[in-house]
Amino acid sequence: MKRYIIPFFLNFQGCPHRCIYCDQTAISGEAHTEVSSVIEMFLKYHGTEEYCAEVAFFGGTFSLLPVEKQEDLINQVIPYIKKGVVNGIRFSTRPDAVCKKRLSWYKENHILHIELGVQSFQASYLDMLKRGYSPEKARESVRLIQQSGLSVGVQLMLGFPGQTREDFFKDIDEIIRLHPHDCRLYPLSVIRGTPLEREFQNGSMNFISLGTAVDWVVDASELIESEGIEIRRIGLPHTPDLEEKIVAGLYHPSFADKVRFERLKRAFDKADAATGATLIVHPADLQYTYRICRMKKKSCQVMPDPSVRRSTILIQR
Ligand code: SF4
Repeated sequence: MKRYIIPFFLNFQGCPHRCIYCDQTAISGEAHTEVSSVIEMFLKYHGTEEYCAEVAFFGGTFSLLPVEKQEDLINQVIPYIKKGVVNGIRFSTRPDAVCKKRLSWYKENHILHIELGVQSFQASYLDMLKRGYSPEKARESVRLIQQSGLSVGVQLMLGFPGQTREDFFKDIDEIIRLHPHDCRLYPLSVIRGTPLEREFQNGSMNFISLGTAVDWVVDASELIESEGIEIRRIGLPHTPDLEEKIVAGLYHPSFADKVRFERLKRAFDKADAATGATLIVHPADLQYTYRICRMKKKSCQVMPDPSVRRSTILIQR
């Protein structure tokens, strides 16, 4: 069954301050105003399919909105949950905006999943980003959400100025230890008009290259998925507005494709498939696999199977 997220963008609402790298308008466009119109738009295009869908309050700090505002947003989704056309609600927030008491209220009020913008579990990078919480707080919030019975996703950044591969993998090890339901990996980009841009223009910041970032994320995503943690997204969503505003740092509109392609290429080499072999891959990897077969000049049959883990290749014997 297809899974959909119906995003409702809050654009900074609830945020205690603007994080130095963040420009929600460039990433998500203008803030949404009516929950019902976002859901109705979704239903217009997907209402006749067999699906599972959650409304997601993204782009701000949902759990720091005034309680009445949180209730109002949730109440706007409830009629659709009762009709059975929406399965539940998720939201994104910061680690320092997670409160144990409130979590049980969320659970009783159709929240299924919380996405935590952790960014890093290392104090030096959290300080650099001026996030305002400690690595301990980030770990504690992940655990609190897990203990509440809600599912948790962790957003992690890479490509901080001066970051080494070893540093990045310390954060990946932390993800594996905490074992959230899923995670997002995205490189730090300098967006025009943000405080980070001013720091970038005033000083010297060395960012890792695109090739290095792809290499790190290929290995990290392999490790994470092999532990049964889902990778929800790689890279920032691509919008022409965002692309036009990138000043420095790591940004590529097809960053995720590059990572998936490289992983499959490595899997293909490892499988050492002979011409004529039948390769079984996840349906989302079909096109990448055809491309690799052409590149390697091997004529193989490629079969889709949704039970196969992404970026892996099985050979039918
Ligand atoms: S990164 Fe998150 S918490 Fe920070 S300003 Fe952006 S939306 Fe708000």
